[in-house]
Amino acid sequence: MKKVNAGRLSLSTRAIHGKHLYAFKGPVATPIFQTSTYRFENSGDAVRYAKGDPNVLVYTRYHNPTTTEVEERLALMENGEASALFASGMAAISTAILALCKSGDELVATPALYGGTYRFFRDTLPEYGINVRHVDPNSLDDLLYLITPKTKVVYFETPTNPTLQLVDIDRLVHLTRKMEKEFRSKIMIIIDNTFATCLNQQPFGYGVDVIMESATKYLGGHADILGGVLIGTASFIRRAKDLAKHLGATPDPFMSYLLDRSLKTFELRVQRQNQNALTLARALERHPKISRVIYPGLRSHPQYALARRQMSGFGGMVTIEVKGGVKAAVRVCDSLKVAINAMSLGGVETLVSIPVYSSHINMDESELRKHGVTPGMIRISVGVEGVEDLIEDFRQAIKKV
Ligand code: PLP
Repeated sequence: MKKVNAGRLSLSTRAIHGKHLYAFKGPVATPIFQTSTYRFENSGDAVRYAKGDPNVLVYTRYHNPTTTEVEERLALMENGEASALFASGMAAISTAILALCKSGDELVATPALYGGTYRFFRDTLPEYGINVRHVDPNSLDDLLYLITPKTKVVYFETPTNPTLQLVDIDRLVHLTRKMEKEFRSKIMIIIDNTFATCLNQQPFGYGVDVIMESATKYLGGHADILGGVLIGTASFIRRAKDLAKHLGATPDPFMSYLLDRSLKTFELRVQRQNQNALTLARALERHPKISRVIYPGLRSHPQYALARRQMSGFGGMVTIEVKGGVKAAVRVCDSLKVAINAMSLGGVETLVSIPVYSSHINMDESELRKHGVTPGMIRISVGVEGVEDLIEDFRQAIKKV
């Protein structure tokens, strides 16, 4: 059989064919194993499982062939050793952190995170004795004193939600590794790559240890599933999966099946979202009722040079700030006809949300300032619709302000 170096194949080829690149027969579509448990041929199977034989299927909270197929495909797409799928992005995040940190340990994170992650770090981790420190992405050198011998994880997102600020991945990794050497203790660097996706940003190339993505967003892409994924070394993924058996937030086989289907069009969808987002951002940039358009692919973005350096595409997220504060933002969102006023992102449909009413609720003024979130902001997750329809839709809605 002719062997192919999968790493050299295009993203779509890896996403569509997965491990079947070398297969001559079998179903073209991934079968769904909608089962909670598996028949043993005889009790010898149970004994083999107890002795650690990974080929014995036992129970879907531990493993499921449909899920395994997607995990292999995702690892291939991200150029990672292994991956683990979870019931949601938050399940992936909480499992990763709890697999790496115990009481007395410390975690350093950038503050501009997805609201759920921020609140998990702020409200839950301290209750388990895990101390969280924040590093300003504009002063990454602070890592040199924020990282201590107790630090087990450095966690960040780039671009950030919803201000689309970038974190310099190369610099963050460099400084963390420097401290790792000084303290002679391993620090795991985790990136939430949900906004950029593996099409637009490849963090393993910079030495990041773990990539996390909410599969609910671009990987799923159709606003119909919840899922989360971790990609990393085989040993880290084994550790996360062992803990996941206890925490129980493992994926449902039907979700895995739908995700498998979505991955086949992932590159097509996200390429179109990249194009639509850039065109829409440019069209809205000079609108007199908009005070700011934030998009990493615009020359006006303060970190445009960094975006060009560390991203291979600029993504489908655009944030605008309308003049007139939250009232004006509400008026625009309620007047849109094509774009949908709904939380979440990454699907084929364009969605809008107002951060102070969605991802950043329950935050006081100083926290909002720390996150750079203002009341007039509207976050747009640009879909794959005809871009002229989107531009016209936003123009008519903004006119109503
Ligand atoms: N990370 C980012 C950047 C997100 O936007 C979200 C959800 O909106 C999550 C993580 C959490 O993912 P999930 O909703 O699948 O738990």
